[in-house]
Amino acid sequence: MTLFEKIIARQIPADIVYEDDQVLAFRDIKPQAPTHILIIPKRHVTRVNEAQSGDAALLGHLLLKAAEVARAAGLGETGYRLVINNGPDGGETVPHLHCHLLGGRPLCWPPG
Ligand code: 5GP
Repeated sequence: MTLFEKIIARQIPADIVYEDDQVLAFRDIKPQAPTHILIIPKRHVTRVNEAQSGDAALLGHLLLKAAEVARAAGLGETGYRLVINNGPDGGETVPHLHCHLLGGRPLCWPPG
């Protein structure tokens, strides 16, 4: 069971900001911006590279909910960034698909 599956199962505490039957959103333990929230699917998908066509509705729902969480956090007008790290070079450390929502300050581009 991955760390994020343990958070879904409430075996590890998290600061949850949104939940429905398909996704969970909670604050990152090591925030990289004033707002740093992770949005994850409740059903296990390892990473976007392993996602299947059957995951399309779930991934679409996750993206729409990420935008909803961003608006609820007051970032709708100022802007924000959604990031999905994939694999070693992508900086992925937890093998359960997650979308980072970062905002509350200007974010540089390109990332380092
Ligand atoms: P990744 O590097 O895989 O894209 O992102 C994993 C994220 O999970 C990191 O930003 C890291 O700070 C966050 N994280 C790691 N352990 C925990 C934890 O126990 N609780 C929470 N809320 N976030 C965590």
